[in-house]
Amino acid sequence: MLTIALTKGRILKETLPLLAKAGIEPLEDISSSRKLIFPTTQDDVRLLVLRGSDVPTYVTFGSADMGIAGKDTLMESGSDELYEPLDLGIARCRLMTAAVKGSKTPEGRIRVATKYVNVAKRYYAALGRQADIIKLYGAMELAPIMELADEIVDIVDTGNTLKANGLEPREHIADISSRLVVNKASMKMKHEKIQAVIDAIATAV
Ligand code: AMP
Repeated sequence: MLTIALTKGRILKETLPLLAKAGIEPLEDISSSRKLIFPTTQDDVRLLVLRGSDVPTYVTFGSADMGIAGKDTLMESGSDELYEPLDLGIARCRLMTAAVKGSKTPEGRIRVATKYVNVAKRYYAALGRQADIIKLYGAMELAPIMELADEIVDIVDTGNTLKANGLEPREHIADISSRLVVNKASMKMKHEKIQAVIDAIATAV
């Protein structure tokens, strides 16, 4: 059995057509089901539907053989126990810093609110800038407005969400898209099947 962990939400919507092209289709409609495990048109392939940040965890521990997650999530998880053989080119966006439109970045130590704590720590450290990182779980845009933080680190697509909240994008940290990841032990033990799935998805991409 091959288990593939998928990221629910926006990424899932763009993943399912790719998997269908690769010959893997869930036997029931994922969006209208409360189930978390889905058998597919391939008897030996099943799908898990998870929160993005749990995908690297399942694949790292080998509970899932493969996974699909945003590069932002993979950068934040920092797991080096995963192969990343394929860029799916879906759910593209950018990881950026943002601040109140027209505001000046304070000299010296700044406060940064984000759900990407590890990415932010590495980013500011690499620039040699002193930053106190504040972990948030959502609505990052609110933090600069309410003076919780000077800046945020968040993903930006059209920029409309920032704009609607009086913020502007500042520095580009990384281009983001969804990636296929594979557990290293699975890659050895189930090589033939996994390579076939990678090849089929690569062709679909
Ligand atoms: P936008 O207003 O188009 O810049 O999108 C803003 C929000 O949509 C971001 O703060 C994210 O929460 C979400 N978002 C945009 N692109 C993606 C993506 N590729 N994957 C996940 N969430 C996204």
